[in-house]
Amino acid sequence: MLIVYNPATGEEIGRVAKYTSAEVRAAVDRTCAAFPEWSSKLAQERSKILRRWHDAVKADKEAFAELLCRENGKCLTEARGEIDYGLGFIEWYAEEAKRVYGDTIPTHDRNANVLVTKEAIGPVAAITPWNFPFMMITRKVATALAAGCTMIIKPAEDTPLTAFKLLEYARMAGIEPGVLEVVVGDPKEIGLIFTGDPRIRKITFTGSTGVGKLLAAQCAATLKKMTLELGGNAPFIVFQDANLDEAVKGLVSAKLRNCGQVCISPNRIFVQHSILEDFIKRVKAAVAKIGVDQGLCEDFVVGPLVNQLGFDKVVRLVEDAKAAGAKVLMGGKPHAKGGLFYEPTVLTGLQDDSPLATEEIFGPVFAIYSFKDEEEVITRANQTEFGLVAYAFTSALGRSLRLSRQLEAGMVILNSGSVGTASIPFGGIKQSGYGREGSYYGIEEYVQVKYVLMAGAQF
Ligand code: ADP
Repeated sequence: MLIVYNPATGEEIGRVAKYTSAEVRAAVDRTCAAFPEWSSKLAQERSKILRRWHDAVKADKEAFAELLCRENGKCLTEARGEIDYGLGFIEWYAEEAKRVYGDTIPTHDRNANVLVTKEAIGPVAAITPWNFPFMMITRKVATALAAGCTMIIKPAEDTPLTAFKLLEYARMAGIEPGVLEVVVGDPKEIGLIFTGDPRIRKITFTGSTGVGKLLAAQCAATLKKMTLELGGNAPFIVFQDANLDEAVKGLVSAKLRNCGQVCISPNRIFVQHSILEDFIKRVKAAVAKIGVDQGLCEDFVVGPLVNQLGFDKVVRLVEDAKAAGAKVLMGGKPHAKGGLFYEPTVLTGLQDDSPLATEEIFGPVFAIYSFKDEEEVITRANQTEFGLVAYAFTSALGRSLRLSRQLEAGMVILNSGSVGTASIPFGGIKQSGYGREGSYYGIEEYVQVKYVLMAGAQF
């Protein structure tokens, strides 16, 4: 039995029976069996079904928000935001389903036409994390189903309830068994079943780089296509010519979202040395205004870390930094509330090779570094094996252009702390993974190109 706890209170909020291997295999069988019919439906039909799912969930948004808040620890305001974000993917791909266009290519043979079509790749398996238990699922499912794929999902063990609730609403909307399946149990075992089955043609995974690499290795045997959205180590660069009010606003909202447990959370904050003191003062003032609490309230508050493992990691990173001589300017310890709450923390005086700079923090910790000039900061920002997102604030156009070209990341965000919605291609480079989710690029991940030569015009 999987017992689900509210990370804010430690109380049990639900139980889900773990699937045995045989049950997981049976669900994979259903996913594969449903593919021929689902993929041969008209795009308009799939679109309508997705739209029904969207509308059914939207009508019960508050119930989903409350569950999300209790299961993950994020506050209601954020939970509602995640639901809007997640619903946006269903809406987007309900439309995009109708626009999977192919090509005709000028022929190389007088008697032939050359066509290129795009076909659903096949049954897909997804493995998702706990930090966005709603959006991570809708983003993957809506895209796959729109393209004509069927999908089986293993959500994170900390947050399976939202996944099963989404499944319930999917069934109400006419998404039948096999078209979408959700299973929980032993992650390693389920991962092996998914990756080992030659009928599953693609794996989409969001989670740690370590597990992503393991799954990629497991997929090698059957050469499955993969989308991997892995860890990040986002630089957030503030130049002296930046609009500081906007930079602070962007930084604080990006950093404290989901208590810092986001792969696009600013991990290394580089501030030009001439404005360092002023900037830190402003960040501290902005953070001090934000409460720390369980989130079943209307305010934006910083919630708990999701589990003991995540909490212990933040404690370790900050303690190591302190021991190495970092200056704690705010917070720096577990919150007086106890449990999994940690104080929003501002630190400076760190080395670029400290664990706080090289590891993904996944907590409410602002790690601030100073830099002298553009060339230096671009080099330092790129000194990481990750390449998911890079943020920068500057009012200089030329510099913006240079940053957009030189920062090594799948997403470069200039003068904003917000990455976007369903309409943009979300994803990384380097060891942050490959493949994109969202926008028209996202659906390309679920189709395969077929070239058709239609010869015979002479007879
Ligand atoms: P995090 O540290 O954020 O929890 P993980 O990569 O460990 O990141 O988890 C992301 C998802 O990967 C979760 O659903 C988890 O259950 C799953 N997972 C963890 N280990 C494995 C594994 N060996 N095989 C398949 N899935 C796994």
